[in-house]
Amino acid sequence: MARYTGPVCRLCRREGCKLFLKGDRCFSEKCGFTKRPVAPGQHGQSRKKASEYGIQLREKQKVKRAYGMSEKQFRSYFELAAKQRGVTGAYMLMLLELRLDNVIYRMGVGDSRAQARQFVLHGHITVNGKKVDIPSYRVSVGDVIAVKAKSAGTERFKQIAEQAGKPVPKWLSVAEGGLSASVVALPERDDMDLTIEEHLIVELYSR
Ligand code: SF4
Repeated sequence: MARYTGPVCRLCRREGCKLFLKGDRCFSEKCGFTKRPVAPGQHGQSRKKASEYGIQLREKQKVKRAYGMSEKQFRSYFELAAKQRGVTGAYMLMLLELRLDNVIYRMGVGDSRAQARQFVLHGHITVNGKKVDIPSYRVSVGDVIAVKAKSAGTERFKQIAEQAGKPVPKWLSVAEGGLSASVVALPERDDMDLTIEEHLIVELYSR
């Protein structure tokens, strides 16, 4: 399925929660969900009782949209997690967190995962000193993720560095200046920044 390119606030309203897809705007009064916390469309305000399937589907869509992924990509994370020992849902979330675009976002370099993804695609990011322009690249413990030296000298990244200091998850250690970070541990379930009931996603895909 093609990537969604419509108004992103509509996605938050559809999922009934903030997905933080628009950076600072999400924390302001201009937030579309704050202004209209109902589902979009003509029947958005009608309260229909969701079926079990509907609840599971909404949870999956919520996480998929928060990470900006297609159905095919998202499902592949589930399938990979399902082959591992341990709790499938938690493992799937860990894999999602380890995506390079997510790491950039969690470092505070991107305002949103979409912006972080752009930075990766445009070749601004290195992993262990080598340029990586694949947003889905999976980082490992010990990796050093950084904004390329040449890019770090541009106005855009200088501004980002000035605003450094946003809270980062404990599995990342951000260096002075905010434009590089090391992965010091694997993300744990409590490190997620969204409220997720991953068992619903597992139930949906296990039907
Ligand atoms: Fe969602 Fe952010 Fe838009 Fe609010 S401003 S509806 S959190 S994308």
